[in-house]
Amino acid sequence: MNKGFSTRCIHAGELDDVYGSPHTPIYATTTFKFPCTADLLDVVDGRKPGSLYTRYGLNPTIQSLENKLAALEGAENAWAFCSGMAAEVALFLTHGRKGIVCLGDAYGGTLELLSTQLPLLGIPGHFLLGHGLARLDDVLAKGIGIVFFETPTNPTLELFDIRTISRLAHQHGALVAVDNTFASPVNQNPLALGADFVVHSCTKYLGGHSDLTAGALLGSNELLAPVWSWRKNLGSMIGPETAALLARSIRTLPVRLRQQNATAQAVAEAMQEHARIRRVLYPGLPDFPGHVLAKKQMSGFGGMLTIEIKGTGEDATRVADRLKLFALAPSLGGVESLVTQPCTTTHHGLTPDERAQRGISDSMLRLSIGLEDTADLIADLEQALS
Ligand code: PLP
Repeated sequence: MNKGFSTRCIHAGELDDVYGSPHTPIYATTTFKFPCTADLLDVVDGRKPGSLYTRYGLNPTIQSLENKLAALEGAENAWAFCSGMAAEVALFLTHGRKGIVCLGDAYGGTLELLSTQLPLLGIPGHFLLGHGLARLDDVLAKGIGIVFFETPTNPTLELFDIRTISRLAHQHGALVAVDNTFASPVNQNPLALGADFVVHSCTKYLGGHSDLTAGALLGSNELLAPVWSWRKNLGSMIGPETAALLARSIRTLPVRLRQQNATAQAVAEAMQEHARIRRVLYPGLPDFPGHVLAKKQMSGFGGMLTIEIKGTGEDATRVADRLKLFALAPSLGGVESLVTQPCTTTHHGLTPDERAQRGISDSMLRLSIGLEDTADLIADLEQALS
């Protein structure tokens, strides 16, 4: 659909329903009937598109969602999954068997998968952090399947240059997968910058209301085709009810994200002025190290920011515990604002040295900005910091 982003969020993928529903209904059915065997075989053998069996993804509600997801990222195709992790597992098992190199910090589940579980299957994981990134060329020379990274990362909002990394990876025959969960398709489209895959935890901004768990993998028809069988036999399909809920949420994605971008910018600026704050990490701040790159490859700076308070880890815990509007909860991207202290949640399992390597201090608090009034969020932070 060659229309503007907001129009695509609402109209892309929607089925023409015989009863006139303006959006795709929920086909809460596991199987689909055919008038005759010849018609059934046309779908089974892939000669004709059609609905067949929901675990295969051949269900109109799921296919409608996938067409919408593809339209958001400018992808040829999309597969929807029951979670973001399910999307990553199917991607790595299909295309990462020669090895996966992970740049920078990543979601804990991804790191565990790459460092502990996939190596059990003989799939090596490589991790390049900080200065180690200079070794990317050498690691790629080993013959790597996938270069994987988040940009911006959690929780330091580190940015990676999608265009430059994609060019380098392709020179070595590797594919590039970007986890675009933090930015959302409103603010960044990695495929347009040269990446081969986009991964989403749709549990976050795409779902947007902290009420569903889902994932997506987007890319070309050719690269996604072999992933389909892995999803089918891993059984990691999204259900039709969740698919419909996710499509419902995507229709309001641009208005939510534009507001979250604006509020996050205002909160970041207010926190930067606060006497009890040492540092604010937010791509929209002109003195943030990744600001220039953010302006180049993002169209908005996102709803996630990290503040570092002047004080100890215990002081930061006290601030997190005193916040009233910001809920103390992991996850992100919902309409309600959330706070986490990385050293007690997302990065709790790491040693202090491992956290330091990632630039994470105990006095950092990560904020996921929701849709509350900006003044109320700033007032909540001020009372907690006081
Ligand atoms: N990617 C990122 C950046 C995440 O933050 C998460 C979860 O927090 C995931 C992937 C995994 O997503 P899910 O929880 O939907 O499996």
